[in-house]
Amino acid sequence: MPKPDTAALIAADKTHLWHPFTAMREWCAPEHEPLVLAAGEGALLRDSLGREYIDGNSSIWTNIHGHNHPRINAAIRAQLDAVAHTSFLGFTNAPAIRLAAELVKLACPDVLTRVFFSDDGSTAIEAALKMAVQYFQLTGESRRARFAAFADAYHGDTLGAASLGGVRLFHERFSALHLPVERVASLAELDGIKDRGEIAAVVIEPLIQGAAGMRLWPRGMLAGLRAWCDANGALLICDEVMTGFGRTGTMFAFQQEGAAPDFLALAKGLTGGYLPLAATLTSEKIFEAFRGEPRERTTFFYGHSYAGNQLGCAAALASLEVFEEENVLAVLRQKIALLGELLAGLESLPNVREIRQCGFIAGIDLARAGGSPFDPAQQMGARVCAAARRHGLLTRPIRDTLVLMPPFCISDAQLRRAVDAIARSIGEAVS
Ligand SMILES: *Cc1c(COP(=O)(O)O)cnc(C)c1O
Repeated sequence: MPKPDTAALIAADKTHLWHPFTAMREWCAPEHEPLVLAAGEGALLRDSLGREYIDGNSSIWTNIHGHNHPRINAAIRAQLDAVAHTSFLGFTNAPAIRLAAELVKLACPDVLTRVFFSDDGSTAIEAALKMAVQYFQLTGESRRARFAAFADAYHGDTLGAASLGGVRLFHERFSALHLPVERVASLAELDGIKDRGEIAAVVIEPLIQGAAGMRLWPRGMLAGLRAWCDANGALLICDEVMTGFGRTGTMFAFQQEGAAPDFLALAKGLTGGYLPLAATLTSEKIFEAFRGEPRERTTFFYGHSYAGNQLGCAAALASLEVFEEENVLAVLRQKIALLGELLAGLESLPNVREIRQCGFIAGIDLARAGGSPFDPAQQMGARVCAAARRHGLLTRPIRDTLVLMPPFCISDAQLRRAVDAIARSIGEAVS
């Protein structure tokens, strides 16, 4: 039984809270003991009872350099002593200005020159969608007001972003309320869209689809999509909310195919996983269309209260400095290779059907020995993750796909422990 204060917290949680993406009947059941996370250090998390865990999915894909990083902590503290937040409507601030300049420098300075700040991945996408539609209205192509998105895509949960989503379980219920979106499974299917001249933008998670179950696109897909958009007059939105900031081995995934998008959506790892902050980068060509005289009403009437938040921008700047100071991408190359070797050791397990790796992201598909899928009612992915928790590893499955994508600062020994925990947990959960 948890200690009294932890027990009281859990009781209050079950009385008052509603958790995201969570089956609340199971959560509130007396036998379910939620972890009350209380501290973190590097790739490790500690719960209120002092038990230690490896943060196997970087706190849902957000953390980059580990928890409690002295550099990022100090930056936030220093900013806090000045001011925590001031409005970005009609005012500006130094951390936001500096961060915008850094993001432009890192992403694609020849093309992506403008930065629009918001709060979350979903809002970064919403901003791109509205910018795309308004851009075509302002440039005399207002018939372009639909979007194309891919099967199994995930771009967030606000209604506009959810319209682009292709994960049935999440999005189908609200489909009557969605924006007009053409759903395609592949690059080739884009050619089959009727009235292609009505497509404002195509949106993609480059290199790897996250919530789809860590599914990889074929190499060259993104470059092909860039060419398709150019040939068909549509804009390209790269959703790098998960892939951004080194996750795939390069600072941004699109850089691996030399295909700069018209909009780049960034969030999760932007602050190193510390604070909610998002950015939508776009080109001078798009931006210019919005610069008319006041009477032309070209202004982009969109924004969130916490746009350009100083604490978030200070954390993000510090996170980018850590990339430099600790030579993070070079060190990460070795870790990516080690992850690959360790994953290869799981291939022989009878209940592992396929393993996919993209940079420092791994998806491990579970199946019955022989290869047929488990009955979804068995919730095998969740059962394996529950077992992993007992072995000191926290992660969350996507149906029967296990996800391993720890903070980049994870030590080799910790990474071995994480993969070992997965192997043992699969064995225990299946038997
Ligand atoms: C998480 C995610 C989002 C949504 O971001 P939020 O910050 O949760 O709104 C959008 N796109 C991708 C690819 C994501 O992984």
